[in-house]
Amino acid sequence: MNMRLAIAVTISLALLCAMPGAAAGETGRGAYDAGKVKLDAGDFSGAADDFARACQLEPGNRTFLLWHMRLQVFLGQNAAFSGDHRQAITLFSQAMAAKEKLTTAKDSEYLAIRRLLDLTREHQSLGSIKPEYVHRVKVLYIRHTDLQGVVDKDGRPVTGKGSMSDSQITASIRAQDQLRFFIEALTRGKLSLSFDRTVVDATLTKAVIYARQANTTMYRPDFSSTSESLGPYLFPKRNNIDSIFMYFINPGFSVWPFANAVPLIYVPYTWYGPERGSIALPMDAAVAKNNTELVTNFPHSWVTFHEFFHVIERRSGGIGPMHGWLPESIEKSKKAYPDWVPDANATWTATEYTWYRYHLLNTLPARMQMQSQKSGITPPFANFSFSLTSPDGHNDAIFKTYTRVLAKISLENLRLAEELVAQADKARRSKRTEEARALYTKALNHNQYHHRALYELGMDAHRRRDSAEAERYFSILERVFPDPKYARPTSSPTR
Ligand SMILES: [Zn+2]
Repeated sequence: MNMRLAIAVTISLALLCAMPGAAAGETGRGAYDAGKVKLDAGDFSGAADDFARACQLEPGNRTFLLWHMRLQVFLGQNAAFSGDHRQAITLFSQAMAAKEKLTTAKDSEYLAIRRLLDLTREHQSLGSIKPEYVHRVKVLYIRHTDLQGVVDKDGRPVTGKGSMSDSQITASIRAQDQLRFFIEALTRGKLSLSFDRTVVDATLTKAVIYARQANTTMYRPDFSSTSESLGPYLFPKRNNIDSIFMYFINPGFSVWPFANAVPLIYVPYTWYGPERGSIALPMDAAVAKNNTELVTNFPHSWVTFHEFFHVIERRSGGIGPMHGWLPESIEKSKKAYPDWVPDANATWTATEYTWYRYHLLNTLPARMQMQSQKSGITPPFANFSFSLTSPDGHNDAIFKTYTRVLAKISLENLRLAEELVAQADKARRSKRTEEARALYTKALNHNQYHHRALYELGMDAHRRRDSAEAERYFSILERVFPDPKYARPTSSPTR
């Protein structure tokens, strides 16, 4: 063995199990057991030391090596996301060496570590980052779920009751940090994200059927159905929110993570604001009910990146086809983006990553440039915003007044009123005026202050030249929802 090779072997062995020496008489099993106890208690670096020592004491033990790998990934992520690139690279390299010793398969764990290592180097090469825009994310955790009156596709009642665990919240925060890190690296530092997180001690009470499958019903949560309104968390910050990330738990009912643009909830079932980017993540898919799952399921934080790419698609004016990395879409995608080189590895996230990477490096900057020319908003990446492009001009007084007035009305009555208003809107648009009037009036039985019902009835009375009735509706409206957009008409009705 020549000197250089000897050094290389020493370094790789040191990388595999590079940790403080063991006490006399300590066994690999003893160190491993101690590590598991520390992991349960949330002492991750203590656990990492013990697992490293376990595999130093018993180098052939695959379980010890596996846990060593997992903890190096975990601590490597901590280092990377806090800006310590050198430490992160050391830890990810150790994780990678352990992974390669465990298997030669290029599986999703391998890919997750490979990507973390490569992106940490790319992120490091950017130096200190001064993003053109920081996309502001409001994160809401709905702590509890207790479904009421929900039935499945066959009409059978569904119970779903439970509370989210702290390790599930921790896992989600790690996924958000990773998302920021990936976005910064792949936009070459032009775009970043910030997170403002609130754990709301409220209960989600409703879910709606989203898809009927052969043996299961897929649901989507109804975020207006929380026992405490989310309005006070959203309205005051409405012009500082670009996206909302919603987390909830779904014990006993299935929900796919999803993304789209959603209006901000101001008053549930009654008043909503402009659209913001959004992703919603069911915590039962976060596979981190405890620290063991949290550390084990590190590739899973990918889902947050997947969902946020849908926000990227929307914000850049569409990147098609959606899920263009799926086998059935690859040929079409290659036609649309001939320079995209898909990874042929069929493992989860492999092809998908090359798709996101391509678009973040190429399509997104070009689209931001185009949008900037149109909107006049500079620098270009400032167009990766919802709050700048669709601000909400309502003043705080409207929210205060309306919320105070509606506080006396039950959530169920708010919901029933909104259903009737939706039906009334439909009738009105189809010029079924009488029917619309009856439905708006009925809505007021559940919520006598519904601003849109009052407005439509007031306008209807005005058109019928019933000024006394118009006055009645508009005077209530003026008091409970003092918005100039809903002001009484000043001109006489047109025919
Ligand atoms: Zn998707």
